[in-house]
Amino acid sequence: MSDRYALIGNPVAHSKSPWIHARFARACRQDLEYGLIEAPLDGFAAAVDSFRAGGGKGLNVTLPFKEQARQYSERVAARAAQVVNTLKFNGGVFGDNTDGVGLVRDLSINMGVDLKGRRVLLMGAGGAAQGVVGALLEAGVGQMVIANRTMARAEALAARHPGVRASSYASLSGSLDLVVNATSSGLRGDAPVLPHGVFGLGTIAYDMVYGRDTPFLAAARAAGARACDGLGMLVEQAAESFLLWRGMRPETGPVLAELRAELSRR
Ligand code: NAP
Repeated sequence: MSDRYALIGNPVAHSKSPWIHARFARACRQDLEYGLIEAPLDGFAAAVDSFRAGGGKGLNVTLPFKEQARQYSERVAARAAQVVNTLKFNGGVFGDNTDGVGLVRDLSINMGVDLKGRRVLLMGAGGAAQGVVGALLEAGVGQMVIANRTMARAEALAARHPGVRASSYASLSGSLDLVVNATSSGLRGDAPVLPHGVFGLGTIAYDMVYGRDTPFLAAARAAGARACDGLGMLVEQAAESFLLWRGMRPETGPVLAELRAELSRR
């Protein structure tokens, strides 16, 4: 029987993860199945228990269960201190977070961005934002500001990382080298309003939402910034999960190119 993996979340029907992991498995000659589990909102632990009882080896975790996955884990990687997006079952339950590596690899390897010393604005303070702060700091970014609609969440996240400060959107000033939109606003065709001047000509504007042109990306392009979506991060975080489960890192370039071509045909 093939080893079983899945993405658990609510909703999950739209997910590209089974498609991505099927390509990784084929390229790495790994015998595995990767499915989707839409757990009831109050049924995360029961769904994971049942998957494990059936021999499941690992899960990717998406909205709204990343904090519950952290609680479910018996051991966690340092980079998954707050939120877990990958679970590995090998006797115990190991929780990890691959979002930060995914973002940093997409920026630095796929896009060729040198992150050292960059002035960064991170928009959002939810699961995705919490997962990437540490990786961006480790990659050597200079100043980091976190802005969020609910200011208290930005303050709490910034307080966990020395040197990082919190701000409201309205009180941001000056242009930034990198603006990462880790809010889900683009899914609803919305975007936080940023003060004039945040996007400069050389700014990289990165929206974690993928597969659509969001108001954030449109505003960035209009201001002369380099705009890109989160498709590369999706593929890179999946590759990091695959590495954790299977001990080998799949090549991501061909999978990303094929996925982008497929989405642009729609
Ligand atoms: P989450 O935990 O629900 O957090 C949502 C965040 O978005 C919060 O900071 C929230 O602010 C903010 N927000 C929502 N609607 C907003 C609006 N209309 N205006 C301003 N802020 C708004 O979600 P998450 O897990 O962090 O995920 C965020 C996004 O990242 C999702 O779209 C997800 O699909 C995407 N993501 C992509 C990847 C990838 O690989 N590309 C990986 C992870 C996540 P409040 O705190 O004020 O509510």
